[in-house]
Parts: sequence; C-alpha cells; structure tokens
Amino acid sequence: MSRSTIDLTLLRTAAARLGEELTPEAERAFRRYAELLLEWNQRINLTGLDDWSEIQRRLLVESLGLLPWVDRACAQSQRCRVIDVGTGAGIPGIPLKLLRPKISLTLLDATAKKVHFLELVVRELALLDTTPIHDRAEALAHNPEHRGQYDLATARAVAHLATALELTLPFLRVDGLAVFPKGPAIELELRDSRRALEILGGEIEAVEPMPLTDLVGATGTIVVVRVVRPAPSQYPRRVGLPAKRPLR
Ligand code: SAH
Repeated sequence: MSRSTIDLTLLRTAAARLGEELTPEAERAFRRYAELLLEWNQRINLTGLDDWSEIQRRLLVESLGLLPWVDRACAQSQRCRVIDVGTGAGIPGIPLKLLRPKISLTLLDATAKKVHFLELVVRELALLDTTPIHDRAEALAHNPEHRGQYDLATARAVAHLATALELTLPFLRVDGLAVFPKGPAIELELRDSRRALEILGGEIEAVEPMPLTDLVGATGTIVVVRVVRPAPSQYPRRVGLPAKRPLR
C-alpha cells in the first residue's frame, strides 16, 4: 500500500477527542509504521488484521485509549519507564510512544521474528529510548535491570488476567500501574484473578469502559492494577506455568 492511501483521519479524530494533536512528526511515524506493518504482515504473521482501516481502528485507536493511564503512571517520574509485555507488532507500545516520545519503552516479546520487526520499526521511525527485547516475561522479570523498575506495564491480548498479572506486576515499582485492555465481559476474569492479585501484591485501581468505543467499533474494558507490595521473588514462576496453571 502506498503512503498516500494510508488515511489517518480516524487516528486524528481519536487524538482530538483525547485533547491531543497529532504532530507532523507523529503522523509521518504512524504512516511509516502502517506501511511496515502491512508489508511485513504478508511475510510473517504479525497481526490477524490485514486491512488498514481495521488496523487503525482496532490496534492504533484502541491503544490511544490507554494514554490517560500512561500520564497518570508517569506523573511523578523524570524518566518514565514503560514495558509492553507480549507486544507482538508493537501494540500498544508503539502508538503510545508516538504520542509520548519521552517515555522509556521496553517492547518484550517471546517470538524472535516479531522482535526483528520491532528492531526495524525502531530504526525506521528513529525512535529514541525504545528497546525491543526477545525473551519470555517469566525470565526477564527476574533480571534486576527490569524487576521492580517500571512505572507502567501493559499487556494486550496476551493472556487471561490472572496470567497477565503474573507476567507484568513483577516489573513494576511499588505504586506502579499495570493497564490491561480487555473485552466487554470481564466480571468472571476479575473474580478469577483475586488470588493472583493477593499473591502478587496488586490492587484493582479502576475497571472502566474503554474510551473511543464508537471509533473503535467495539466495546471493551480497561483494567488497571496498582502495585501495593513488591511481588514475592518466586514470581513469575518458570516459563509456561503462569499460563498453564494461573494463580486462581
Ligand atoms: N499485544 C499485541 C500482540 C498480542 S499476541 C497485540 O495486541 O496485537 C500475544 C503476543 O504475546 C505474541 O506475540 C507472543 O509471542 C507474546 N507472548 C506470549 N506469552 C509471552 C511471554 N510469556 N513472554 C513474552 N511474550 C509472550
């Protein structure tokens, strides 16, 4: 798809609704990101969506809905550290970075080819302080350079909430926020995550409807968890266990 056919109207509308303006630099970067996504999605499976309007709607606009929480988590940090666990093609991390260029962003994914794609995106978009890492959250969360170091963690479409909590909370400092974009029906998942919250030292901060649903064309929920105690050192458990045997 050529550059001229990548229409950013929806994204601009979404930004305006959030009181943001897409700068010319941000627009250029979103265009280039879109081109790379569409091109690479034909070679490696980056996302199930292969149509620009769907990608814009479901991946980019939805990601912008998390911005208010980024601002909240970053309010007290000089260098705000954000980790996107299971980022895939960079969702929601890259769109957030394009609107908040000052965040220090770690893009974590267990699939090598996706991380190669992210390295290309970082180069092509000339993103500063953005680090793709090929690893499993279960391993990286025990690395002292990452454990307890982040102000905000997110994970979209990665796992059940109980699993996602185990894969994200250990990265956060006390008072840091984990933000999960979820589907519309979240009650059962929340109930099944109570034990994980208790064990890992998290408390529900907010459960709210995803903003911009009319633009996204789907309803969703944002679940926000605040860390109140550091996660015990044995978590996350070894690779695979958080998904296979969630803390319930
Ligand atoms: N967040 C993206 C991708 C979702 S697909 C989006 O919303 O489009 C889920 C991704 O999580 C996959 O790319 C997979 O490789 C990654 N993943 C799953 N478990 C993981 C783990 N334990 N550690 C790191 N990445 C993981």
